[in-house]
Amino acid sequence: MQRLLMVTGRWVLLALVVAVAGWSADLLFAAPNASDPFAAPLDVQRQEAALLPAFHADLDAAAQWDRYTVSARVDPERRTIAGSLRLEYTNRAADPLDRVYFYLFPNLPEFGGRLDIRGATVNDVTVRVRYESNRFLLRLDLPTSLPSGASADVVLDFSAAAPLDASQRYYAAFNRERGVLALASALPMVARRVDGAWQLATPLFRGDLVTSETALYDVTLTVPVAWTAVTTGTAIDSQTDGASRTTRFISGPQRDFTIVLTRFPSISTEVEGTRITSYFRPEHAEGGRVALDAAANALRAFNRRFGPYPLTELDIVQIDARKFLGVEYPGLIMIDRRLYAGEREGLEIIVAHEVAHQWWYSMVGNDVQNEAWLDEGLTSFSQIVYQEEIRGAMAAERELDGFRSVYLRARQAGRDAPLKRPVSALRGNYTAIAYSKGALFFQALRIRIGEPAFDRFLHDYYATFRYRIASSDDVRATAENACACDLTDFYRDWVLTAAPVAVP
Ligand SMILES: [Zn+2]
Repeated sequence: MQRLLMVTGRWVLLALVVAVAGWSADLLFAAPNASDPFAAPLDVQRQEAALLPAFHADLDAAAQWDRYTVSARVDPERRTIAGSLRLEYTNRAADPLDRVYFYLFPNLPEFGGRLDIRGATVNDVTVRVRYESNRFLLRLDLPTSLPSGASADVVLDFSAAAPLDASQRYYAAFNRERGVLALASALPMVARRVDGAWQLATPLFRGDLVTSETALYDVTLTVPVAWTAVTTGTAIDSQTDGASRTTRFISGPQRDFTIVLTRFPSISTEVEGTRITSYFRPEHAEGGRVALDAAANALRAFNRRFGPYPLTELDIVQIDARKFLGVEYPGLIMIDRRLYAGEREGLEIIVAHEVAHQWWYSMVGNDVQNEAWLDEGLTSFSQIVYQEEIRGAMAAERELDGFRSVYLRARQAGRDAPLKRPVSALRGNYTAIAYSKGALFFQALRIRIGEPAFDRFLHDYYATFRYRIASSDDVRATAENACACDLTDFYRDWVLTAAPVAVP
């Protein structure tokens, strides 16, 4: 995510006004498609459609990933998505499992919407729907316990609704405003387990929200023909029936499946096999072109410096964000209107930032609530990489200088902190630490271990942790491996303590 520096700590107030959210109670519960998309297990070979040919072999690891098959109808007028979701879930822990949890992000007060589960089955046996944590969690007790290594089919009938024109009050990536219905995190998502323990903490609304495992998605959406569905992954089939169009999307290995409906025009280009498409308001055609060019340049730069992006598509959609400048989802980034309109500076570098998140957050995952610096720090550092590749050394130095001044201002004000800090422990200094000090860490590491070792580190980190979740310790181990050196003191000073580090 790219935040506004001045906007922090305001979300807590929003719970008070959730009762007047803009969704209507009489939701349209549209029936799923007549043909039964749940008749067969998810077809792993079909997932090749979302991957460049050089990465089809990534699907050899598919046994590690849960599979979602979704069939849903989206109504942009009512701002609803309703349908069925099947999860083919495997118990990958050592102990048998007696329940399964899902995250229902739209039920977080900050979303200003809702997500209802109207029915649930496990292996065709109806199970009771139980909500926990103020409906953020769905709990399903399994009819029979699931042994280690065994799989179960969970089917949910769901219906979600987003607010209208609510970017001032709620999370703008789940909102309809000015020709865009953004439905980030609209689908129920199985909760993470770490060492056999469910991760059930309600995320704090500071920065990013979703930490999730890689999964495979096969999603069929029916939408009015006047609207275009833009999603994670790629469309493989589309049929028009009167006023509706039904399109099947394939994600490839991704951490989330994000849906946007838009009526905006678009322009596209292709970079090293990946098709990039930019959607923008008709009056912002110039900004739409700047966003496309920035994404193309970023993709080219990061392919070279980090290792290639494996997917066939990347989409950029203009939204009204207001409280932030951009936000990343797998294969789809959303950028605030004001950057296109020239009301705020920095469209090019914000797009580059969100494209870098495709490497750091999307491909290489991390716990965004407990180690946010891993993706925000490396993504902010990637802005320096972008400038080096595209605009030259002077621009890179200016970028670096921006991070220096934000971090040093916080440090001089007594707000320094270790990089490895949960967002709950970072308040007004979240941006200064996770973004600026994080970026400076990678620049300092680069100077410490030298350019060839640092280049190896970036490529190794990406190749090793692609589709996985990396930790701070993994950064250290990968860097020590790349330089064949000991980084104990360096890591302690930057990551574990708030020692007065030498700013590069
Ligand atoms: Zn970010």
